[in-house]
Amino acid sequence: METMTQSKISPNSATEEARAVTDPYADFRRQLVEFTESPALAPLKDIVRSNQKLSRKEFSEWQKALFARGWAAPNWPVQYGGTGWDLQQRYLFEEVTAAADCPPQYHHGIGHIGPVIMHFGTEAIKRRFLPRILDGSEHWCQGYSEPGAGSDLASLKSTAVRDGDDYVLNGQKIWTSHAHEADMMYTLVRTSSEGRKQAGISLLLVPLNTPGIEIRPIRTIDQWHHVNEVFLSNVRVPAEYLVGEEGEGWKCAKFLLDRERLSPATVPRLARQLEQVSDLVAQKMTSSPGLPSIHSLQERLFNAQASVMAARQMLLSAIQEEIHGTLASSKSSALKLYASELSQHIVGIAFDIAGPEYAARLVPEMPAMDGADDLDIERQLSHTYLFFRSRSIAGGTSEVQKNVIARDIFGS
Ligand SMILES: Cc1cc2nc3c(=O)[nH]c(=O)nc-3n(C[C@H](O)[C@H](O)[C@H](O)COP(=O)(O)OP(=O)(O)OC[C@H]3O[C@@H](n4cnc5c(N)ncnc54)[C@H](O)[C@@H]3O)c2cc1C
Repeated sequence: METMTQSKISPNSATEEARAVTDPYADFRRQLVEFTESPALAPLKDIVRSNQKLSRKEFSEWQKALFARGWAAPNWPVQYGGTGWDLQQRYLFEEVTAAADCPPQYHHGIGHIGPVIMHFGTEAIKRRFLPRILDGSEHWCQGYSEPGAGSDLASLKSTAVRDGDDYVLNGQKIWTSHAHEADMMYTLVRTSSEGRKQAGISLLLVPLNTPGIEIRPIRTIDQWHHVNEVFLSNVRVPAEYLVGEEGEGWKCAKFLLDRERLSPATVPRLARQLEQVSDLVAQKMTSSPGLPSIHSLQERLFNAQASVMAARQMLLSAIQEEIHGTLASSKSSALKLYASELSQHIVGIAFDIAGPEYAARLVPEMPAMDGADDLDIERQLSHTYLFFRSRSIAGGTSEVQKNVIARDIFGS
């Protein structure tokens, strides 16, 4: 693990040569750094650096660049076009790309449904969908939650009824991130109401251009467009787009949720965000040396730094367990709980730097939806602060993560 704490490579330095002798990952890190310094990536990095909202365009460009380099899927096995990297390489990839302000990979394809398809899908489904996730040409979203079925997901009511070679879907999904810019939605639907409620759930892959689908935006407090309602009225989906057996959707859903809560990108991104916030505090100390709250801000920064280091250790141990197939749900829940609350803490520092007058003016002044190109870093961080309030809700609330952890410790 020692290698991962080393600072960025500056090729040709004597220190670097000495490190290359002892560090088996020095050459790999150098390749990563060289790649992130490619001039073609500069416009993407500017968007990330200024904390602007990332949309499909940026995520696709990044995925295509990674695909061209052969690094499209750090977490996939080689047989499906993945890199086959080991733990250190996977973490180094996240660390170097985050430090260079490259975008994170779009998670719904590579991180979520891709591994589920590999694990539970038919050969035909794998051939149809995996290549387009890899090369960034098809964009996915997750249709799990419904009004009345969020934390208690198994209470979902949307139905799929088999009719010849199709399933016919009816119902409503809510909070569907990125549905407005996605091609495909993986969704949980009820195929039976017999027995335990979990037993009647199936996982279907739905092309979003199918007749009968209506997507309506939900505007969140940060004024950006992330989430949607998705209405399904007699939507016909080929039965071959069922993943796993009918009624086995809950197994796939849990497999996916464990991976959703274990996002290797989270901690290096937190570290980078903390750097940005620390720079803001430093600027503020120069421009307003008498600021009374500056010492408490510094203390919060030190605490955040220690917490990011702790999160990093948790993440590395969780990835290790995932690689060996021994990852417990409680471990990914603990990481999700810790990282989401830490991200709120870090951007909360930035928000407080801006001061109460600024915060009071912020919401009315923010542009509607996505037009935010000319905002400065403080304002972008304030958007981020407001959006990050959802971090402890999306992907399962903090209370739900605590329940998962408690069940593991005390038994259910
Ligand atoms: C920004 C954002 C993006 C999202 N993206 C998606 C997406 O792409 N796809 C998708 O399917 N969903 C998505 N969601 C939905 C998200 O998964 C749900 O909001 C979440 O699971 C909570 O469900 P709920 O909103 O129905 O709240 P509820 O489940 O009704 O919870 C309300 C409150 O009760 C508490 N609570 C509920 N049950 C318990 C319990 N057993 N013990 C203790 N406390 C409990 C909760 O912690 C919460 O505080 C997103 C949500 C947000 C905010």
